[in-house]
Amino acid sequence: MLNRRLFTTALAWLTLTVLNNTVQAQPGPGSKAVFVIVDGIPADVIERVPTPTIDAIAAEGGYGRATVGGPIGEPGETPTISAPGYMSLITGTWANKHNVHANYGISPDYRYWNLFRLVRSEKPELQLAIFSTWTDNRKILLGEGLAEGGNWRFDMVVDGLETDEVRFPRRPLDAHIADIDNAVSREAARLIASEGPDLSWVYLQYTDDVAHKYGESVEFERAVVQMDKFVNAIWLGVLARQEAHDEDWLVIVTTDHGRDAVTGRTHGAQSKRERTIWMATNSQRLTPDFYAMPEIVDIYPSIATHLGITIPEQVARHLDGASFIE
Ligand SMILES: [Zn+2]
Repeated sequence: MLNRRLFTTALAWLTLTVLNNTVQAQPGPGSKAVFVIVDGIPADVIERVPTPTIDAIAAEGGYGRATVGGPIGEPGETPTISAPGYMSLITGTWANKHNVHANYGISPDYRYWNLFRLVRSEKPELQLAIFSTWTDNRKILLGEGLAEGGNWRFDMVVDGLETDEVRFPRRPLDAHIADIDNAVSREAARLIASEGPDLSWVYLQYTDDVAHKYGESVEFERAVVQMDKFVNAIWLGVLARQEAHDEDWLVIVTTDHGRDAVTGRTHGAQSKRERTIWMATNSQRLTPDFYAMPEIVDIYPSIATHLGITIPEQVARHLDGASFIE
């Protein structure tokens, strides 16, 4: 089954390559994309724990292991930590460019345009959305509304819930973070189905919190199962939207880093397990590169390809990734 899909993909790729000189691939009407980052789930864990939604998304397109952390021993080496990982995804560059090496006390280099700024610049009419359990993603990493970040804005924002102690009072063992992930994914599903934003980022945090506390454990596996249910809400929102509209939705679910091989509690270094992430997508236009350990920086040009955005040369020349979508 997998081999046949690979073969078909390879054939389609060859055909497109042959035609490439004469035919410019154009996106159909209503190309939309949502990428979901679920925090800190190693590839071996997502493959072992039952995650029917991840499987359903991958059944439409594909699932593959991937890497984060950049080239070891070179300037682009990037800590396997959350914010550096998100920055690598949203800017398509490693930390020697985006300049985020930690989660806090950071100064992102906004000269490397993030995906939302790119879309806002190239197709200003497109609707941008973020649904996130961590507000810093929008305010600091993306630099929304900052002059030095290009002064662009989202059309839809659902975040800041982690500071809303009335609606989400702090609970032992960070259980309120699971409640926030739940609320974030439900709102994402609702707005995707009703408004159909053209590019959305969903970020869910709880899995990483549990792994830091318990390491490899039943608790962590339970949190992964729960995460899959949150992603299911989003996936059902996309399916409902596609059912009602003539739109072509790209869904990518991934994680930002693995975990250490001994306890599973930590991450940040360059061990194989910390660097090994995974991607699940419904895209039916995957190139063979998708199955050859792509990197987190490949997601940026892949989404741009799906959205039919030509990346301007002054942005493209800095990118460390390449599209795995034809
Ligand atoms: Zn962590």
